[in-house]
Amino acid sequence: MTHTVMHTHDTSSATPVIGRFAPSPSGRMHLGNMFTALISWLSVRSTGGRWILRIEDLDPQRSKAEHTRMIEDDLQWLGLDWDEGGSDDKGENGPYSQSRRHDIYSRYLHMLDDTGLTYSCSCTRADIMATQAPHQSDGRVIYQGTCRPHNIGTPEAAKRIHTTTLRAATRLYVPDRDIQFTDRVFGTHNVNPASNCGDFVLQRADGAWAYQLAVVVDDALMGVTEVVRGCDLLLSTAQQIYLYELLNLPAPQFAHLPLICNTSGQRLAKRDLTLNMEQLRRRHTPESLTGLLACMAGIIDRPKPLRATDLIGLFDWNSVPRTPVIQISAD
Ligand code: GLU
Repeated sequence: MTHTVMHTHDTSSATPVIGRFAPSPSGRMHLGNMFTALISWLSVRSTGGRWILRIEDLDPQRSKAEHTRMIEDDLQWLGLDWDEGGSDDKGENGPYSQSRRHDIYSRYLHMLDDTGLTYSCSCTRADIMATQAPHQSDGRVIYQGTCRPHNIGTPEAAKRIHTTTLRAATRLYVPDRDIQFTDRVFGTHNVNPASNCGDFVLQRADGAWAYQLAVVVDDALMGVTEVVRGCDLLLSTAQQIYLYELLNLPAPQFAHLPLICNTSGQRLAKRDLTLNMEQLRRRHTPESLTGLLACMAGIIDRPKPLRATDLIGLFDWNSVPRTPVIQISAD
C-alpha cells in the first residue's frame, strides 16, 4: 500500500512570523499584488503569527479611500484576513495609514539629522538629469551629491541641518561600500548604495515623506519580522538596511517574489486591465483564483479550486519560484 506524505508545518515549533501587506491605494490590485498578499499571509498563518495590513498612502495625489476599500474587499474575497491595521485601524501599533504618521516620521528624521548625514537639497529633476553619466541606460537616476556639504557626518553638519529653517528636499548621505543582505528567495546580495542610487531623499520639498524612510520606521515600530514584496524592490533593501543601522533598529527578514508579467512579457501595472482584480473576479471564483496563485507559488502542480486556508499546511518557502518573472496569460 502506498500513501502520500503531506508536507505540513508544525506551527507549534516555528517562530511566529509578524508579516505585513503594504499596498499603495493608487488603483485596483492586480494578480501580482494578490500573489504577494497570499504568500505573505501563508508564511504568517503557517507559523501561527500575525498579519498586518498597512496602507501606504504617502502620495496624496494618487491615493484614494475608495481604492483602500477595494483592496480590503479583494483580500476578504480571497479569504485573506488581517489581525492588525486596515482602514479601521485595528490594533495597538497604529495609525496604520502612512498619511496619518507624519509626527512619527518627523521624529525619526530628527534622529537622522543628529548623525550629521542629512542635508537640504534644492536640485530640480532637470539638474539631476544633467549630472547623469551618459550611458545610464537602465533608467536609474543616481544623485551625484551636488548639494552635499563638505563636512557631512560631523556635528557641524548636524547643527546646520537642524537650524535650516526652509528646507528643500532632505537627503541622506550613503556610504561608498557594499551593504550585504540575504533574501529568502533570491539569496545573498551585495549592493553599494553610492553606485546604485546615491544620496537618497527622506522628505520631499513639498513635505511628502519618502517611501524608504516610512517603510523602515513602520516595519520596525509595528514589530514586523518578515517583509514579502515584489522583486522590483529587491535593491532598495540595501537603502533600508542602511536606515535600520543608522536608527539602531532591528531589520526584518526580506523575501522578494518574482514579478508577474502578461504573456507579452510586460510587467503588470495597476492601469493594465486584463489581470486586475475587477477582471479576475469576473472570470474566477475565490477558489479558482487561489488555485491559480497556489500553482504560481509552486504549492500545487496544476490549478485546482482551493481555499486560502487549505494551503496553510502545504506552504513551503522552498517551492516559491526563484525566477525574476512569472508569465501568465489573462485567461
Ligand atoms: N507600497 C508598496 C507597493 O504597493 C510596497 C512596499 C513594500 O512592501 O515595502 O508596491
